[in-house]
Amino acid sequence: MFESLSDKLQAVFDKLASKGKLSESDVNTALREVRLALLEADVNFKVVKEFIDRIRARAVGAEVMNSLTPAQQVVKIVHEELIELLGKPVPLDLSGPPPHVIMLVGLQGAGKTTMAAKLALRLRKSGQRPLLVAADIYRPAAIQQLEILGKQIDVPVHSEGTDVPAATIAKNAVRLAREKAYTTVILDTAGRLQIDEQMMQELEQVRMVTRPAEILLVVDAMTGQEAVHVAEGFNQRVPLTGLIMTKIDGDARGGAALSVRYVTGVPIKFLGTGEKLADLEPFQPDRLASRILGMGDVLTLIERAQENITEEDAAAMERKLQEGNFDFDDFLEQLRQIKKMGPLGDILGMIPGLGRMAKGLDMNEAEKNLKKTEAIISSMTVQERRHPHILNASRRRRIAAGSGTTVQDVNMLIKQFRDMQKMMKQMGLLGNGKGKKKGKR
Ligand code: GDP
Repeated sequence: MFESLSDKLQAVFDKLASKGKLSESDVNTALREVRLALLEADVNFKVVKEFIDRIRARAVGAEVMNSLTPAQQVVKIVHEELIELLGKPVPLDLSGPPPHVIMLVGLQGAGKTTMAAKLALRLRKSGQRPLLVAADIYRPAAIQQLEILGKQIDVPVHSEGTDVPAATIAKNAVRLAREKAYTTVILDTAGRLQIDEQMMQELEQVRMVTRPAEILLVVDAMTGQEAVHVAEGFNQRVPLTGLIMTKIDGDARGGAALSVRYVTGVPIKFLGTGEKLADLEPFQPDRLASRILGMGDVLTLIERAQENITEEDAAAMERKLQEGNFDFDDFLEQLRQIKKMGPLGDILGMIPGLGRMAKGLDMNEAEKNLKKTEAIISSMTVQERRHPHILNASRRRRIAAGSGTTVQDVNMLIKQFRDMQKMMKQMGLLGNGKGKKKGKR
């Protein structure tokens, strides 16, 4: 999402860095450009003004300008102020006695139903026993959608059709949770196209009978500043404990995510980063600030790796690498693990310095190559994968035909694989315990 903003800010800082010593007017010019970039990203103008004023107060001083690395000092200040703007991370509060009720509210189409399932999946993975509740009684399709999603992630869904008031359904669900020892109750409430009185009354009733631990507003990041108004509107009637921004994978300019906390005082708790149920990230201001400033996001990358690669897998792979026993099966396994971590462009973007480089590469082409490689290895027999030296010309022809590629493609892959093997043998024992741990989630 923040690509365009990120590009512009990096250009500003590159220009600063090329100057060496900075004058007050250099800093002022840079700040004007930062201001423009933020406004273009649709950040609330009041927020921009205060943000820039704070940076100016810190940056235009002898301490920064006479330092050895003034440009870096300015970037550091912007980074810190961005984090400040985004607010402290506030995790879900599930500290009271179970069942904890999480009430999701929001306008229709914001991604509420999808988010209910995403949260359920996340909570289940962390050892909770979630119950999903279809409390949107106006759209039979929403109830059905939740039931389908619930099945996908193996989380039960409580629904009572469209004739029972939402508050009654919610109350029954909490009772059911007590009886059956579900630890969290996730309420998918009705959304409208815009905020209306009837909707608000219904939410107030649901809140009264369920006393939620969390009332989370799901907002669509693509709606820009409108998201901020929606948040204010809801917050006046049902006191929100958090916000969830969805569709941040889209091409929204990102301003809403940057201003909503500051304007409403309600913390962002999660980001929805795609249509798949695993596409959910806890909101972490420092990481987001680093990503926006092109400083990479190694921590998120490591977490993704930890979620997808178990400690045993990593250890086994390391052993094979050291012993030079790495075969095509292992190669395929590695490819699949990388693929599980997300689109290549995303992964590269999280590595400091590589984000910008990744933009110059054709990611579609790279993804296609990965698929091709996978297809070629999949067309090999078990024997061939374990003992690549038996891959003679006729076997290569068969593999090319089977995988819908050419013999050249197959040859190239085998050559790359041999080079890699050689390199690994040369590196020998580089085992320094890159101890990857299995994610706790
Ligand atoms: P609701 O009306 O608020 O319950 O919204 P839905 O959960 O039905 O979502 C509306 C549409 O947005 C669906 O097509 C979802 O697949 C899509 N969607 C939800 N969250 C995300 C997200 O984080 N990224 C993207 N790209 N699409 C999303």
